Formats: sequence, C-alpha cells, structure tokens
Amino acid sequence: MDTQLLIGSRFEAGTEAEEHILNPRTGAGIIDLAEASHAQIDAAVDAAERAFVGWSQTTPAERSNALLKIADAIEKEADEFAALEALNCGKPINAVKNDELPAIIDCWRFFAGAVRNLHAPAAGEYLPGHTSMIRRDPIGIVGSIAPWNYPLMMMAWKLAPAIGGGNTVVFKPSEQTPLTALKLARLIADILPEGVVNVITGRGETVGNALINHPKVGMVSITGDIATGKKVLAAAAKTVKRTHLELGGKAPVIVYGDADLEAVVNGIRTFGYYNAGQDCTAACRIYAEAGIYEKLVADLTSAVSTIRYNLDDDTENEIGPLISRRQRDRVASFVERAADQKHIEITTGGRTGSDEGFFFQPTVVAGATQEDEIVRREVFGPVVSVTRFTGKDDAVAWANDSDYGLASSVWTKDISKAMRAASRLQYGCTWINTHFMLTNEMPHGGIKQSGYGKDMSVYALEDYTAVRHIMINHG
Ligand code: NAD
Repeated sequence: MDTQLLIGSRFEAGTEAEEHILNPRTGAGIIDLAEASHAQIDAAVDAAERAFVGWSQTTPAERSNALLKIADAIEKEADEFAALEALNCGKPINAVKNDELPAIIDCWRFFAGAVRNLHAPAAGEYLPGHTSMIRRDPIGIVGSIAPWNYPLMMMAWKLAPAIGGGNTVVFKPSEQTPLTALKLARLIADILPEGVVNVITGRGETVGNALINHPKVGMVSITGDIATGKKVLAAAAKTVKRTHLELGGKAPVIVYGDADLEAVVNGIRTFGYYNAGQDCTAACRIYAEAGIYEKLVADLTSAVSTIRYNLDDDTENEIGPLISRRQRDRVASFVERAADQKHIEITTGGRTGSDEGFFFQPTVVAGATQEDEIVRREVFGPVVSVTRFTGKDDAVAWANDSDYGLASSVWTKDISKAMRAASRLQYGCTWINTHFMLTNEMPHGGIKQSGYGKDMSVYALEDYTAVRHIMINHG
C-alpha cells in the first residue's frame, strides 16, 4: 500500500498528526497516516512553482500524451485501484470496477483530446492596423481539494483539465479516503516532470486550510460542503484567487402523472441510492403528481426494500455503507427528525443497517412537504423523500425553491411539458426521463449554493485556463 506524500520528485511520510483510515464496511482500521506539515505543504507549492516554468511551455500534444499515459497506467492496474477504492470507501467492488474505473480512465483520455482542441474567435483586425488574437494560458499553481465520495474520480476530474491546461497542482484528497490518490501519485511520478503534480494528505482545517490560504496558489478547486466552499471564498478574497466550487446538491425529481411509472421506480431505485446516496446529484427529492403518488410510493417502497447492501458476497451488493460513523449518525438523525412529523411515513428502511460498519438501510420517506427539513437539506445518504403535488401546485417552483442548484430531472411522456419544465429549472443539469447519467463530453456543475465552475467537458478546460488578448500594432 502506498502511504507517502509526493512532493516534487520525493516520496516522504507526513510528519504531523495521524489520521486513522477506516474500512467503512467493518469500522476496522486499515492504516494510520500522518498528515503533511506546514514545511511539507510549502515544499509542495514550491515544487509546483518550479515545475510551472517548464510545464506551462509544453505543447498541447506533449500534455495530451502525458494524460494518455496516465490513463493507460490506471487501466493497467484497474483491478488494484478498484480493490483499494472499495476497501477505503466501502463501495461494492463491482460498482468501482464496472462503473467508476472506466469513467475515470475515459476522463483522462477525454482531456487528452480536448486539450488539443481549444477554440476562440478568429484572429483578425478588429481595429485598423492592429491584429488581435486570443490565447488560453494556464493560471499557475492550482490547490486542488477532493471529497470522499468518489476519490479517484474526483482526482481525475480535477487533475486532468488542470494539468492539461498547463497548470501545476498541489492535490489534497479527503483525509478519510487518501489511498487511491497515494497510489496514483506513484504512477504519475514516473510519467510527469517533477513537481507538476504533488499529493499531500491531511485534514481540511489544517492542510486544506494552509493550501487555500497559500499566497503562491493562484486557483483553488474544491468539491465539498457549502460551508467549506464559503471558507475557500473567504481565503481567496485575501489574495484574489480564482475559485472552482462544486458544493453539493438536493436534486429534485418531478414525476408527472403521465410518466412511465416502472421506469421512474427503477430510475429512483438506482439513481437515488447509488453509492449509498453519497452523491451530490442523487435523485433524492421526489415530487409526484397526485394521480400516481400512491402507486409510486407503494412500488418504490417494495423496489427499495430489495436493494442489496450488506451481503457477505460483496459481488452481490448494489450499495455499500456510509463513509463513517459520523456520516451514518448524521443520516440517522435526519430520518429520526423526519419520522417525528405526523404527516410523514417511513415506508421502508429508517434504521442503521448492521452491528458493525457504517451501513444505513435504504429508506423511503413518504408524505414529506416542501417545508420539511428532509426536503430542504442535503442528507447524503440512502434516503429519498416523496412529496405529493396536484394540478394546482407548481412543481417546478417547488423544485426551484432550494438553496441548491446542481442536478434535477423531469419524468413525463409529454416532451413539450418536459421542455417547458427544463427551461424553468434552475439547475446545472436537467435530465428528462432519466437521472444521474454523466458523460465526459458534457459539463457537470452547479448554480446557486451548489457552487460554480464545471467539471468534465471543454468547459472545465476553460475554467482552468485564462483568456488572454494579444494585440499587435502593425501600423
Ligand atoms: P467537506 O467539505 O467536509 O470536505 C471536502 C474536502 O475539503 C476534504 O478534502 C476536506 O479535507 C476539505 N476541507 C474541509 N474543510 C476545509 C477547510 N477549512 N479548508 C480547506 N479544505 C477543507 O465535504 P465532504 O464531507 O468530504 O464531502 C461531502 C460534500 O461534498 C457533500 O456536501 C457533497 O454534496 C459535496 N460534493 C459535491 C460534489 C459536486 O460535484 N458538486 C461532488 C461530490 C461531493
């Protein structure tokens, strides 16, 4: 198991407080890892600064080749990466192997192509005697901070466009899930020039805080909680850093009376509970039209009660545990408070799912109303609420009545109705008759308190580069 930080070309252990890395499936310790010291954070930033001089001058083709090599290296050890991610996150092995790893490898390959294809307005004489052209240049050192729900995938989403755009990076994985990042650091060190990517581990309030406040860091990219995003903004204000914030969601799912109910139920069973609901796009806030409400709740309840989550044969499991005891208890407390409301019925689940490990039963919360906490706040667990609306209610307005603005979906056989709803929804993404489907060619990112900036797609590459205007006076 790789346990050392990557600073420039050096691998070394952290020298500060130790973090216990746990197996969420059992609650047992995997390893204790010491976090980076201030001196090690500074050394990583200095290494990135030195590397920027050369890396920022490489051609897109050179950077593209490096990204392709990283994709190949991950692919070659895909099974090892999958096993490590499953161990550290408690994910079912098949979900990591069959869903996540292919998407991660494809992300590196997508940016290898995209970096050679940036577009801009044509160079030309927009003032007589002056020729203008546009450049897209790197920003500098990116401080990049990832959450625990998809560690290796978030690393790909953040690193590939950043280094593809010619930046250098100091990357900090979540203190709870650093293992695949440390493994990838080993492979990256053989592919990239020294210091282009540095990997340091540690807690948010210590290592993360030092990174976002570092005067030499030109851009901070973070996926995490809204509260963490606000801290990044406050830190960025001091030296006017560029920021890229992906900050969670509470995805509304509007189900009209004419929807294909079987597809809806199958969709919510999959997309509401995938990764134990620890997904910022999870289909967790259902608005069901009155005519189909009862049947939807009944069918969803029986479908969700069949989700396989804690079987000894992990290849049978569809979802895993929560990442930590704290996260499981947080989910449990949301459900307890919801269950205390007279109008709410927990139709399946509602309890912790095992004696050991951090499991929570897949849960359906029926009868929830727009004012309920379970409808308004992100639970980040295997919990889906269902709210009834009638023809007199404006479901789109309810869906928009949220602090979040990341993902949403609309389910109906009437494409005109779907398009009208999609045009009004204030979300970074609206799916029609599906949910959760991502592709590396298309952007992922929010509006409102879900943050801003896009992951995946050419828009991410744009976020990690600065538009510059060069003008020549030729008289
Ligand atoms: P978190 O905000 O606690 O931690 C995310 C990362 O930020 C971790 O690496 C953590 O160490 C670091 N961090 C925490 N405090 C910090 C500080 N003061 N300064 C610098 N860094 C700090 O979030 P989490 O609990 O790891 O992840 C869950 C959250 O992330 C959820 O709210 C979820 O919705 C969100 N999320 C969003 C997306 C998206 O694409 N929008 C994707 C995944 C997760």
